[in-house]
Amino acid sequence: MKFEADRKEAVLLNPAKGMTEKRIPVEIRKDPLTGRTSRICHFMALAWEKPDLAAIAANTVEKCPFCPKSVLTVTPCFPENLIPEGRMTLDDLVLFPNLAPYDPLSAVATLGGRHYIPMTEISEETITKGFLLAMAYFRRIHALGYPESVYPIANWNYMPPAGSSIIHPHLQVFVTASAPNLMRQELEAAKAYMDTNGSNFWEDLAEYEKKAGERFLGSIGRHSGLDGQRFTPSGPGPDTSYESL
Ligand SMILES: [Zn+2]
Repeated sequence: MKFEADRKEAVLLNPAKGMTEKRIPVEIRKDPLTGRTSRICHFMALAWEKPDLAAIAANTVEKCPFCPKSVLTVTPCFPENLIPEGRMTLDDLVLFPNLAPYDPLSAVATLGGRHYIPMTEISEETITKGFLLAMAYFRRIHALGYPESVYPIANWNYMPPAGSSIIHPHLQVFVTASAPNLMRQELEAAKAYMDTNGSNFWEDLAEYEKKAGERFLGSIGRHSGLDGQRFTPSGPGPDTSYESL
């Protein structure tokens, strides 16, 4: 596996230092799987003004369609042939069809009854439950033999700076037979890698990174190789609660 990095240099005359020469490194790195490249650049210090998210939350809570007082009356329901009970729930999380669908089976899953969760207060339990509910939806649709049930996808835009139109935390959850561009590229490239090398790219990548040292950050979970020590989320873990849905 080859990790190509093309290191270059920009040369300019610096106005802050009497137009003396300044050399600035730039680097282009290539993804060994797809050949896609990314640039490692050096920016000057950036100072963004922090948006007042608490004020945005206060102004939107009254008319929020995802809050407990409204979510079971104003959100749409699935047709009977898909989800007979209309919506799916897990504690105070609710999953229902997306009014602005990305694909025929496009859903939204709220991450609970709380209208605004500051980023620092998002818990492992919240994330775990959100994905458990999404998985339950994927399984239900798959069990129906629905032909679009090929690629299950869960996306999350957190708050308006990330493009979310509704403050209340929620996932976009859908299944599709049309893989998005990056997923399709990676699947095709991983298959070509398997055909050429007779091994799984992702397993080879993990092995390489462990050996290479400089690229290895750490490991948690099933493949950590920590002899039985496991990362245990404080909420319900996927191995313990999934079957109960
Ligand atoms: Zn809300």
